[in-house]
Amino acid sequence: MSAGSDAGALLPTAADYAAATVRPEVRALTAYAVAKAPGMIKLDAMENPFPLPEPVRAKVAAAAAAVPVNRYPDGAADGVKAALRAALDIPAAAGLIVGNGSDELIQIVTSTLARPGAAMLAPDPSFVMYRMNAIYAGMRFVGVPLQADFALDVDAMLAAIARERPALVFVAYPNNPTGNLFAADDVARIIRAAPGLVVVDEAYHAFAQASFMPRLGEFANLCVLRTVSKIGMAGLRLGYAAAAPAWIDEFEKLRQPYNLNALTQAVAPVLLDERALLDGQAALLRAERERVAAALAGLPGVTVFATRTNFVLARVPDARRWFEMLCRAGILVKNLHGAHPLLDNCLRITVGAPAENDAVLAALRREP
Ligand code: PMP
Repeated sequence: MSAGSDAGALLPTAADYAAATVRPEVRALTAYAVAKAPGMIKLDAMENPFPLPEPVRAKVAAAAAAVPVNRYPDGAADGVKAALRAALDIPAAAGLIVGNGSDELIQIVTSTLARPGAAMLAPDPSFVMYRMNAIYAGMRFVGVPLQADFALDVDAMLAAIARERPALVFVAYPNNPTGNLFAADDVARIIRAAPGLVVVDEAYHAFAQASFMPRLGEFANLCVLRTVSKIGMAGLRLGYAAAAPAWIDEFEKLRQPYNLNALTQAVAPVLLDERALLDGQAALLRAERERVAAALAGLPGVTVFATRTNFVLARVPDARRWFEMLCRAGILVKNLHGAHPLLDNCLRITVGAPAENDAVLAALRREP
């Protein structure tokens, strides 16, 4: 309590009100900290490293300049949806919802299914926002440990599904932060066994070249979630989810009316139309990924895990020291030591442009 303006009266502070009213599970959280990397080689967040070529920048500038920013955007985002359908392999019969990043869609799907007492189930470790959104929505989170080599423990998943009857299952395909792609047959078994919705999160689809999107018609309880963040548009904040219209109709009820801003709606179709550019960059990054993984695997004491993403997970002798050494070399990666027992001494290194990857390898080769 602190003194208020009335002489001698003690009025509650904002912190007192918050302590008395904010949900305890929210008070126990720490806000997601986004690392700053001014002037550094930024390899911590799986961004595409390439700036737009000048002619494409000019198209983006023209599209942005034509936006009537005094008006609300198209609430249905029809132009973006048409561009996504034209550029990507979304089955015509599937419904489509767009979000302010796939992060927003994780929140919408979770809130839609968070009946009192309902469970969300996911392999563990996986994308941290699944668990966070379960907490936001008051859902029970059940993490099913991966094996020590990060393979899916499909029997444990099936047992947990039978035990918990989760309303919602998230499977990152491939998985973040481990990078590996679970066996399609195992994921299909999980979808068949689940009593509710299974979201197959294909954020790294461009680098995995494997997808459940063509199989949407096979499973009534499947939703395929994707993002354009990893293919060069992280700043636009655009994610999309495809599922049977019966699911999408429900999700639409929780979507904010204007969740996708007008500038994103204008610019995303321009970039989605640049197929050759997007495909070429993804191919180059896949080749760089193999080069970086092989070089890291040749360093003494380093274990590199199989990856089908645009990052490489490596276990190093001392993650904190290696992380700091890379920082001193002007390179920011993600230190996962402490994030999960299976991730002891692991660094997650986003695959960058060739010169950036060379800088990482040179710095690590200097490490005694
Ligand atoms: N899913 C997975 C598996 C991810 O790794 C990420 C980003 N790190 C996201 C979803 C969220 O991506 P965005 O919100 O940028 O679309």
